[in-house]
Amino acid sequence: MTGSPATRSAPAPVIAHEHGWLVESAHRTSEGIVQYVRCAECGVRRVDIAAVPVVVPAAASREFG
Ligand SMILES: [Zn+2]
Repeated sequence: MTGSPATRSAPAPVIAHEHGWLVESAHRTSEGIVQYVRCAECGVRRVDIAAVPVVVPAAASREFG
């Protein structure tokens, strides 16, 4: 029996990993802070929009009692 040896040609599965996002650039918009991030491992890119940072909550009233 002749034939090519069985080749292991299983498709390489996409290795799931936790992307390690690096912020390439960011700028503020009226909607928040847009961040262009890239995974250092696989190079995929993503755009994040972070809400405008919440300012430190101010006391609505003075302390009393
Ligand atoms: Zn990745």
